[in-house]
Amino acid sequence: MTDDIAALRTRLRSGTLPEALLRSGREVVLRCGDKNLTRDQLRGDAERVAGGLHGLGITAEDRVAIYAANSLEWVIAYLGVQRVGACAVMMNPDYHSAEAEHIFHDSEPAAVVADRPRAAIAAKLGLRVISLEELPKGAVPPKPSLTPDSPAAILYTSGTTGRPKGAVLDHGNFLAQGRGALEVWRWTSRDVLVHALPLFHLHGLGMGLHGTLLGGGSATLVPFTPEAVVAELTRDDAERGTMFFGVPSMYHRLCDWLDENPTDLSHVRVFVCGSAPLPPALFERCARLLGQPPIERYGITEGGIVVTNPYDGPRQPGRVGHPFPGVEVRLGELDEVLLRGGQVFSGYWRNPQATAEAFTPDGFFLTGDVGEIGEDGTLAIRGRIKELIITGGFNVYPREVELVLEAHPAVQEVAVAGVPSDKWGEEVTAYVVPSPSARLVESELIAFAQERLASYKCPKRVITLDRLPRNAMGKVQRSLLTK
Ligand code: AMP
Repeated sequence: MTDDIAALRTRLRSGTLPEALLRSGREVVLRCGDKNLTRDQLRGDAERVAGGLHGLGITAEDRVAIYAANSLEWVIAYLGVQRVGACAVMMNPDYHSAEAEHIFHDSEPAAVVADRPRAAIAAKLGLRVISLEELPKGAVPPKPSLTPDSPAAILYTSGTTGRPKGAVLDHGNFLAQGRGALEVWRWTSRDVLVHALPLFHLHGLGMGLHGTLLGGGSATLVPFTPEAVVAELTRDDAERGTMFFGVPSMYHRLCDWLDENPTDLSHVRVFVCGSAPLPPALFERCARLLGQPPIERYGITEGGIVVTNPYDGPRQPGRVGHPFPGVEVRLGELDEVLLRGGQVFSGYWRNPQATAEAFTPDGFFLTGDVGEIGEDGTLAIRGRIKELIITGGFNVYPREVELVLEAHPAVQEVAVAGVPSDKWGEEVTAYVVPSPSARLVESELIAFAQERLASYKCPKRVITLDRLPRNAMGKVQRSLLTK
C-alpha cells in the first residue's frame, strides 16, 4: 500500500459518527409524512435518548438492537445509541421470530428498541424491550470515549446462502463510506434524497442516512411506491427531491408506472442503483423514462459501497465502474473480487474462523463475487462464486446466461440456477417472468440462447413464474427457486 493511499484512508476514516454527523447544512434534515425534524431537533432528541439509555445502564460496552420499520423515531433511536457509544444491531423488520432469535442470540443485545408490531416478538424471546414510540429520555450523558476503530453497528449478511453472519462496522468504516459517497456523487447540502430503502441495510444506512447527515443535505423517508417517489421528486417547494437511491426491482416498478404516467424527471440530479445487477434493458428504459440512466454501483455489507459508475462521463450498462476513493479492487482466484480500504470491515462478530477465512494474508476481503476488470479499469460483476453451476463438468455463471435471456422480448425478468440432475450434475434452468406483451415459448427461448451461447451454458429447461422470489433488497433468493 502506498503512503498516499494510507494517508487518504486515515483522513476518510477520521472521527466518529456522533462528532461528524449533523455538523452543518440545511435546517430541515429529515422528513417523513407530515412530520419534519431540523438539525437542532434531531441532535437534541438523539442526545436526550442517549441520556435515557444511559439512565437504563446502557454503556459503550453494550449492543442495542433496533427492530422497527423506517421512521423518524428509528433515526432518533439509532443516533441515540451512537451518542451513548453503544453498538447498534441492525434488524430487518420483516424478520419473524426464528430469524430474529438467531440475531438476538448471536449479538446478545442489552436491549431491543422495537416498534409496536415487533415488541411482542422481542419480549417473547425474553429480551429487554424499549418502546420506539416512547423512547426513554434523560439528561445529556457524558461523551463516550470512541475512536474510528470503535464498533458502530453490526449488520447481518443477507443470508441468501446460509445463516446470517454479523459484520461489525466501525465508525471509521461508516465515515469513509459516507465521505466517499459525497465525493463520487457530488452530494451537497443542496440535495434532498428521496429515501425509500430500508434503514437497517447498508445502502439505506451507510449511504442514504449517513451521507445525508454528513453532507448537510436532507432526506425524505417514504415507503416505496412509484407514486410516492415521483410525488417527492416533483414537489414545487424547497423539499423537492434531487436524488433517489433504489434497487433494480424498484426501478422496474418506477418505469412501469412512468410508462402509464409520463412525468418529466429531467431536473433530478442523480439516480443511484445497486444491490443486485441492473439489466441493460432496464438501464436503457430508465435512460428514456427518467431522463438519465441510473448510476449503477456495487457494494457488499462487509465492504460498504465501494465501486461506482461515474457522475460525469459515460455510465456503462452491465458494468459497475471504478473504485471509491481509497478503495483497492483486484481479482483473485476464480476471478473473485477482492477489496481493501478504509470502508472495509475488519471482522465478523464473535466468529474468528469466518473472519480468518474472509481475508487474504495481505488484508484483502474476499467478496465471494466473480468479477471482470476491463481495459478501462471498470469492474463488471458476473455473479456469486457459490451460484456457479457445474454442468457436465463445465462451469456456468448464471449472470452470463441471464444477460442473454434478458435480451429476448418475451422475457421481463429471469434468474438462472442449477437444478441437481443425475445426467449433468446440475442442469442449467431458467426461471422466467414473461413480459405481458409477448408470448413465451420454451423451445424458442432455448433456441435464442443457443444462437448466442456455448451449448453447455444454455438452459435445459425454462420454468415460468409470476414473479421471482426476492429479499428486502430486491436480491433473487436462488435457494428458493430450486427447492
Ligand atoms: P449485501 O451484502 O446484502 O449488500 O449484498 C451484496 C451482494 O449484492 C454483492 O456481493 C453482490 O453479489 C450483489 N451486488 C451488489 N451490488 C451489485 C451490482 N451492482 N451488480 C451485481 N451484484 C451486486
